[in-house]
Amino acid sequence: MSHSKGGATRIIQGIQHFQESVFREKESLFRRLSEGQSPHALFITCCDSRIDPNLLTQTEPGELFIHRNIGNQVPPFDCSGGVRATLEYALKTLDIRDAIVCGHSKCGAMQGLLNPDSLRDMPFVAQWLEHARAILPAIEQAATLSPEEKLNRAIERNVVLQLEHLQVYPFVAERLAAGKLRLHGWVYFIESGQVTAYDADKGCFLPLVRTPE
Ligand SMILES: [Zn+2]
Repeated sequence: MSHSKGGATRIIQGIQHFQESVFREKESLFRRLSEGQSPHALFITCCDSRIDPNLLTQTEPGELFIHRNIGNQVPPFDCSGGVRATLEYALKTLDIRDAIVCGHSKCGAMQGLLNPDSLRDMPFVAQWLEHARAILPAIEQAATLSPEEKLNRAIERNVVLQLEHLQVYPFVAERLAAGKLRLHGWVYFIESGQVTAYDADKGCFLPLVRTPE
């Protein structure tokens, strides 16, 4: 299925519809949001167009502070870039108490990581995905896995690795130690709508269940 035909026209029509009906219906929400934001959670996910964080979590504007990049990476603390700035702002200014790293099924970035030949013409993508390279040896050792199982394993291990990177940021570690921040590692399945969550005690991903407040 392709939406490429008249892409910009389709988008501009969408804006008109938003302004003429959606905005009017939610005018009080937008007026309130114009005064400031206090989102519930930082949501880090992939750029993949098939993920819609607000649709998936049934949240409104103002509820999620979202950072997206190819392969939902959180580069280690000593790497410069936008993720670092996003984290700093989310935690220091917005005082966000929950941070989610959400990978997804059929991730092209993880597919590329597993098949470096496919990234030969994309040096920037290849370089960016260096932040996930550490997951490769364990996956390569699991020789009995099918290509699909390997991809799913890579998607999960990548989420866990990025959570590990996150915990090294001093202002993250501080808040974790003070009980002021919770980290969550999720995988969203495009084909079923399911979401699994990393269970650190069991060391695996399980269907997402509601946690006590
Ligand atoms: Zn992806």
